[in-house]
Amino acid sequence: MIRHVAALAMLLGMASLVQASFAQVADAPYAPLTKPLHIEQVPNAPIWYSIGNPGIPGKDNEGNTSNAGFVVTSDGVAVFDALGTPSLGWALLQQIKKATDKPVRYVIASHYHADHIYGLQAFKDHTPALIIAQEQAGDYKVNEETADERAEQRLDQRRGALYPWVDEKTRVVPPDITFKERMTITLGDRTLTLLFAGPAHSSSDMMMMVEPDGVLFAGDIVQNSRIPFMNSDDVSTAHWLAALNEVEKLQPKFIIPGHGKASTKAAEAIAFTRDYIQYVRDAMTKAVQNWTDFDAAYAQTDWSKYKDMPAFTSNNRGNAYRIYLELEQSQFKDDKK
Ligand SMILES: [Zn+2]
Repeated sequence: MIRHVAALAMLLGMASLVQASFAQVADAPYAPLTKPLHIEQVPNAPIWYSIGNPGIPGKDNEGNTSNAGFVVTSDGVAVFDALGTPSLGWALLQQIKKATDKPVRYVIASHYHADHIYGLQAFKDHTPALIIAQEQAGDYKVNEETADERAEQRLDQRRGALYPWVDEKTRVVPPDITFKERMTITLGDRTLTLLFAGPAHSSSDMMMMVEPDGVLFAGDIVQNSRIPFMNSDDVSTAHWLAALNEVEKLQPKFIIPGHGKASTKAAEAIAFTRDYIQYVRDAMTKAVQNWTDFDAAYAQTDWSKYKDMPAFTSNNRGNAYRIYLELEQSQFKDDKK
């Protein structure tokens, strides 16, 4: 008997050794981060989120510039956005495992832009989760003319800018399920409503409302205290402003934007994004109406209100130019009527 126990103990010991070495391998399927991912809990709700660094993705922030989060329900976990590298997606998955032993059922992508989707790979390869996105997400790979980011070009850029967290094995994982206008998921004791809100910041923008908590994951429709990126083909600031009105109508109790601070004051976060878009539009409207060329119009505009904000240097001029073109085009359309 004693010999049996000893043998069993030895076997168990070996098993745990095997397990330990497995764990080590499983611990590092992607390049490790040097800066750990921090998650915070929404007050009184089974919802957690991580807030990215301000600024654009680079080695200093290890690509951690966007927000993501997850909802733990009685029947599994729904994740909203997957962060900007497989390493970050993996780190998010480890945080989920700390919060619950329930399986990840869904990963919902707010839109197909690199800073939100490269982490999908970690979920695809290490969980049974289904990936959900708005149907225009397919533009990202297929439609070269209208995709708001060139998927392959962006991946090459990030392999340089974010190596080793984005490397030759990093790939864009397409959605398993897509929807057009609206999708309701009942998962255990929570209802998740997915709402198409694009084309605004990108062609496939969507938001997720979690009930009964009244928590809104707004994606990049709302960016709090950070200059949003608007300089791409599919940006429509007219639609974007309309989408912000829709967000406001939902009256969320807590808002987690795509970038910037989460807040119980949803109205303030919405107002920040709206005021910025409106400010740039007003300045550029004057320029287009007066036939002022872009460089002069940009130089004449007072940017002091925004110039010290994160991502101003990288995004503002391009945003203004994009809006200038959008307004010029809509004026041209009006002229033809
Ligand atoms: Zn983003």
